Amino acid sequence: MDHNAPTPPVNAIANTQNARQDAVNQLANIGKGEGSILSQLLENPFFTAGFGLAGLGAALRYGSIGLRRTAELIRHRMLVDLEITRHDESYNWVLNWMTNHYSQSLAPQGNRKQVGTLEYLLRRFTPGLHHLQIKTQVSRTASGSQQTAFALVPGHGRHILRYKNAFLAVNRERIGKSFDSNGQPFETVKLTTLYYYRHIFEDIFREAHQMALQSTEGKTVIYTSRNVSWEKSGEPKRRRPFDSVVLEKGLSDKILGDVNEFLNARTWYLDRGIPYRRGYLLYGPPGTGKTSFVQALAGELDFNIAMLSLSQRGLTDDLLNHLLLNVPPRTIVLLEDADAAFSNRRQRDEDGYTGANVTYSGLLNALDGVASAEERIIFMTTNHIDRLDDALIRPGRVDMTVHLGNATDWQMEALWDRFYAESDTHREGKALFMQKARDAGLVGNVSTAALQGLFLYNKDDVKGAIAMVDQLATVRPGE
Ligand code: ADP
Repeated sequence: MDHNAPTPPVNAIANTQNARQDAVNQLANIGKGEGSILSQLLENPFFTAGFGLAGLGAALRYGSIGLRRTAELIRHRMLVDLEITRHDESYNWVLNWMTNHYSQSLAPQGNRKQVGTLEYLLRRFTPGLHHLQIKTQVSRTASGSQQTAFALVPGHGRHILRYKNAFLAVNRERIGKSFDSNGQPFETVKLTTLYYYRHIFEDIFREAHQMALQSTEGKTVIYTSRNVSWEKSGEPKRRRPFDSVVLEKGLSDKILGDVNEFLNARTWYLDRGIPYRRGYLLYGPPGTGKTSFVQALAGELDFNIAMLSLSQRGLTDDLLNHLLLNVPPRTIVLLEDADAAFSNRRQRDEDGYTGANVTYSGLLNALDGVASAEERIIFMTTNHIDRLDDALIRPGRVDMTVHLGNATDWQMEALWDRFYAESDTHREGKALFMQKARDAGLVGNVSTAALQGLFLYNKDDVKGAIAMVDQLATVRPGE
């Protein structure tokens, strides 16, 4: 021991030991009993409220993340989505199916006794299509009259439907603010259901497709050009019977045979790398059945028709090219007034005219460019074959040229048969009618359209038709 070192006073030592003991006690008291820091903090209402709120916030936050994750997991595991974009063929089928399905099966109808309590309640309280959209289609017929058709389709937003015990959420929404080249907004329809019921999608599509087929079954869809694409022109028309257009003896069958041969030769064309297309030119005066024959042929082959007049204003070479490259499937292209492209050239040469019309070279290029793995059948019609250039009438562009003329003896009799076959005086009437027609020099000088007009006017009236035969003489061919 160092006896020289200063000895601390006894009191100081005692104080230091007390302070140390206090500190130890305080530490030991933390969390216990009155007077501890924690208890003081806990007694502070601001602290406990803040701490409570923060805790609650954290709990909610983690809770909501957890819930979201669980929902996502459930969604991922238990739900199944199917998305269809507007540009898919099935888009309109599904919208029409939804409207039809709801109006047929889920509309609140029937009383509780008739349908049973459960079904009644389901029908009453199942949410359905509360937001519909109207689709109006205005089209012009060949005669220029206007036809309007309306259809109700589900509007934008969410809809809930019930189908075969399954609930189905349908969300129709616009994507972005852009529009396609036809001015239609980009849209999708998303169908969601439980994974367990995923098979119903197949059933829905089958039904929707069936419905779409039924609406065109036995009918011919006529497409016309709208903006830069083919659009259905009005409702599909009843198929025109093939024998309702009376061409010269055997001519209809000859053309039909050629088209059928072409349709059966797909692999022959593809194997040889030859574009799988066939062109036909029908020429002759107006009212000789050129357009009607193509319609009847389309009906016979179960094809649709895409119609375009080359004299149509605003039809440019580029547009024609684009349209011919984008013909809907199983569709015959009918290009009317084929001479317009050649007349435009003459007009251009003579007047320095530069309108937005198809040119002669534009037509040839568009025809040559038609290449598709699917068949392309192109019919062209003209009243003025003399205006066409030889360059058009060559294999690959026009493979078959057919003249449809004024009514021949054979056509007159065949048309007579079509109108008066049921009449008691059909035979004698025909002999008389033909005699008068020959005497008046009508054979070969009157159009089949004029003849049909006379028979229609005298429907079921053999005598009336015979009495009026002379009046046909005043109808100049082509009027
Ligand atoms: P084109 O195209 O030759 O000018 P359309 O086919 O437009 O003639 O015929 C005009 C109208 O005349 C149609 O109603 C059509 O039914 C009738 N028609 C013309 N030719 C015939 C024909 N050969 N057989 C039956 N109907 C015809």
